[in-house]
Amino acid sequence: MSPGQEKFDFGEFLKRTSSSKREFDAYVEKVSVLAGICPFCKKKKVTINLDSIYRDSKGLNSNPDKVFRKTCGDKECTDAFRLKEIFPHEIDRSGVPLLYRNARKKDFTEKQWFLAEKALSIAILGKNGVGKSHMAAAWMAHWIWYIPGIKTEWISAPKLLSDFRDSYNRDARTSEKQVIKKYTNDCDLLVLDDLGAEKITDWSLSALYIILSDRIEMCLRTCVTTNLTMEQILNYEPRIASRLMAFTRIKLEGDDQRILQGRRKNERRSP
Ligand SMILES: [Zn+2]
Repeated sequence: MSPGQEKFDFGEFLKRTSSSKREFDAYVEKVSVLAGICPFCKKKKVTINLDSIYRDSKGLNSNPDKVFRKTCGDKECTDAFRLKEIFPHEIDRSGVPLLYRNARKKDFTEKQWFLAEKALSIAILGKNGVGKSHMAAAWMAHWIWYIPGIKTEWISAPKLLSDFRDSYNRDARTSEKQVIKKYTNDCDLLVLDDLGAEKITDWSLSALYIILSDRIEMCLRTCVTTNLTMEQILNYEPRIASRLMAFTRIKLEGDDQRILQGRRKNERRSP
């Protein structure tokens, strides 16, 4: 071992230094290269050049976990690490409602999922409570995993319209332009939940139309959920229906899960 190198237990290193910046800095002062076995897969030998890390991070907010991820290139190990340590935070930040944070592809049959996986954009149709939002959340989680750093938004149609409306207030903090940008340019993947639940006016329809048609033109991933049928959407707004024709449509059938669950609960409660 050359001078400045230290045989090291990485697990211990991560534990000690990730909690304290001072401790991390002290290590970098003393030791320039660490060599040891990867604490996650316990297979690969890993060498970490602390000097370069220190330079990269300028000694500020150094995160040894991040450093390590760059260093152990084993895919299985990196994936396992990401699944455990990073993915849950990505989901938390994605905007997906708490209720659907755990929604994943495995919750659906192959047949149900088949179309969703290949499509750029999907429209999930079905009655109340068949699991449309659950599927939208699973779809979002799927892309968060496959496209690290993807920018996502989740918004219900009524909330989107209230964002628009707020932008017209005299003391509004965001302009209409900023609202449009938030849900188009600034968002790689949008879930527009519960289309048709909003109050329908000419104005609300054109606001929804702007968002959908801009996203289609920019080839941005979009998921719309609705309990309207395509025929109803055609009556509701032919322009929106024509935009939705560009989406892969998935129809979820089945009994109302929420109603069933409620019923089961009541059954349990009764003697
Ligand atoms: Zn590893």
